[in-house]
Amino acid sequence: SLYSFTKLNQEEQKPPYMNPKLPVEERVKDLMSRMTLEDKVYQMCQYVGLEHMKSAESELSPEELEKNDAKGFYPGLRPSDIARLATEGKIGSFLHVVTAEEANQLQKLAQQSPLKIPLLIGIDAIHGNGLVSGSTIYPSPISQAATFADDLIKEGSKQTALEMRANGMHWSFTPNIDVLRDPRWGRTGETYGEDPYLVGNMGIATILGMQSDNFTGNDHVIACAKHLIAGSSSVNGLNAAPTDVSLRTLYEIFLPPYRRAVKEANVFSIMAAHNEVGGVPGHMDKSMMTDLLRSRWNFNGFYVSDWNDVSRIDIWHHVAKDFKQSIEFSVNAGMDMNMHGPKFDKLLIELVKEGKVNEERVNYACRKILEAKFRMGLFENPFVDIKTASKVNFAEAHQKNALEQARRAIVLQTNPKNILPLSTNGNGKTIFITGPNANNQTTLGDWVSPQPDKNIVTMVQGITKIGTESGYQVNYFDSGDRSKEITDDKIDLAAQKAATADITVLVLGENSFRHDWSRKTTGENIDRATLKLSGNQLKLANKIMDLGKPVIVVYVSGSPIAEPELQQRAAAVLNTWETGAFAGQATAEILFGKINPSGKLPLTIPRSVGQLQMVYNYKPTAFIHKYNSESKLPLHPFGFGLSYTTFSVSAPKLSKNDFSAKDDVISVSVEVSNTGKMDGEEVVQMYVRDDISSFTRPVKELKGYKRVALKAGETKTVTLDIKAESLAMYDRDYNFVVEEGSFTIMVGNSSEDKNLKKATLNVSNTITLEKS
Ligand code: BGC
Repeated sequence: SLYSFTKLNQEEQKPPYMNPKLPVEERVKDLMSRMTLEDKVYQMCQYVGLEHMKSAESELSPEELEKNDAKGFYPGLRPSDIARLATEGKIGSFLHVVTAEEANQLQKLAQQSPLKIPLLIGIDAIHGNGLVSGSTIYPSPISQAATFADDLIKEGSKQTALEMRANGMHWSFTPNIDVLRDPRWGRTGETYGEDPYLVGNMGIATILGMQSDNFTGNDHVIACAKHLIAGSSSVNGLNAAPTDVSLRTLYEIFLPPYRRAVKEANVFSIMAAHNEVGGVPGHMDKSMMTDLLRSRWNFNGFYVSDWNDVSRIDIWHHVAKDFKQSIEFSVNAGMDMNMHGPKFDKLLIELVKEGKVNEERVNYACRKILEAKFRMGLFENPFVDIKTASKVNFAEAHQKNALEQARRAIVLQTNPKNILPLSTNGNGKTIFITGPNANNQTTLGDWVSPQPDKNIVTMVQGITKIGTESGYQVNYFDSGDRSKEITDDKIDLAAQKAATADITVLVLGENSFRHDWSRKTTGENIDRATLKLSGNQLKLANKIMDLGKPVIVVYVSGSPIAEPELQQRAAAVLNTWETGAFAGQATAEILFGKINPSGKLPLTIPRSVGQLQMVYNYKPTAFIHKYNSESKLPLHPFGFGLSYTTFSVSAPKLSKNDFSAKDDVISVSVEVSNTGKMDGEEVVQMYVRDDISSFTRPVKELKGYKRVALKAGETKTVTLDIKAESLAMYDRDYNFVVEEGSFTIMVGNSSEDKNLKKATLNVSNTITLEKS
């Protein structure tokens, strides 16, 4: 027919890069052959979404806009300018586009450009696509790490990718694989804690969940490992402040998750860090970006800058004379995409023409960004169906996974007289709930916009439901927010109500939720100078505890709370982190024993800020001497978490005692028994110590773990593997090697020595895994 003839004709006229049947490589090559230097540079430019920008820019006066523009710091561009640039094909990517409608609108603009290159849309979908209203909010990363359940996290990340794609978003700025070494850092809740191995595993689970093998098709997104490197250990705990650690510490503590993210999960993007290390800002650290990650570890994706950080090379760090020189240093170091702002394109084009930046750098960046767009099928269809989006968001299976994560993340920290679980035969007793995190969305954590109330179970809702079903009367009193609102009057009123109740549940903690920035007490750019409870919370707690009635403390916080005296007085302490949409349900299920708690601490909880750096994998001399007025012990060790039942773990048996070749695998097996009266789950943990080494090594390092479900009285055999990587270290020349000698293998259910049983493994000759 005429119709099919015309259609065929149109198809034939389409350039090869528009042909989905050709291999991606060929399509990229064809498209790039049609692009000018300018076009290629435009692909490296990312801008913030129009809605987001409107709200930010509307607050700026024309003078301020002008000033920001002069610095190259903030856009200095109006939304209308950005729309024009998109239409002209001068934008490669957007971030923080928060509705499917806006994503479609921007893609439509890009389709008007000469080459019709679709946009790559990125967003911080850190634990669910939380900046988008109506998404499933999973527990925050620190909470996820507390589950020690990699598969569950992988599944949740897969679901997040589905929600993202349904809304027109293709790239998540997650996982944050910063190894947390200083909990003053406000971003603690965004991390997977203090241990490089656990962080690596969680990072890999997230990347594989999001990207799958190669993110081909409609179901996957690109992940982004961030932030290179070590911003989680700044000299004073403040975000973006300098980090000053040795090269050895970088290799042993901070870099292992990156090595694995690249080698084991093929992460396609990496974000550089705000901070400097040893005088070199992350955004121009060629030794990290290019020499180590790209050349040695074969990172095969692209780098994105963090928010405005290329311009901060001059504005903040003062190691370049202006924005142009900052771009020169950054792109030459390996940077491929500039997160937000004008002038990057114009100045980079000049730099290439002046010979200061090799055009090959631009070609590489452009090639990778296009490759991503082709693989995800964006050239075939850059748009999404709005109706599908509303079906995929908060889908039932996603809710289920979020709830399962929450149930496993919550850590029972104390329960000295077994007040928990509360009886499910309440007999008319009264439970009184108060505290600043009791009845709001602080349980959602950071990187989440306010969500529809119907999607969220608050602590009060969860406890009221199960409490009432169990025959209790449940009362709640709003103590107000922790800052100025917990007044003496409110404290008195709360105490009066507690006096008439049988049990009080105090929901305390910190606030990283983005709803109201003035109320945040932790999160990005809000760091903690103390690890104690902020505001008047302690006063509220003490007044109620003075009544002498049982008080159960429920913490909602992504960062650890160091309140030893409060803990001493509490009938029980339950650390719920920021467990997402179903925090209230999971917490209530645990309080009433419908679920047996099984979360384990992914970080050490110190007793005070003065103890920092307080981590379990310290070096042998860390605690030779003592403090004049503080214990050397933490409040709770890494890997710790109580249960309503008891478990025993037998001494480890090794499949053989000698490790002799690169691909050897030793099986370490233990018998784990549930010796109590309630079914439960336990996390069996394996630690390794290199007994004598050429450089000092930690007293123990986590190298394996397994979560196992055991019925009351049941015993199971758990097997964990030791591979060369479990034993390896960096030698004098930074080759990755297993040194000969003996290693102590420790297995148990926390990092504490008293919970670990040992065996010895011998390595007969030094084995090189990777040359420097
Ligand atoms: C944060 C990044 C984040 C980016 C975009 C920055 O301030 O450091 O982690 O991905 O903003 O929102």
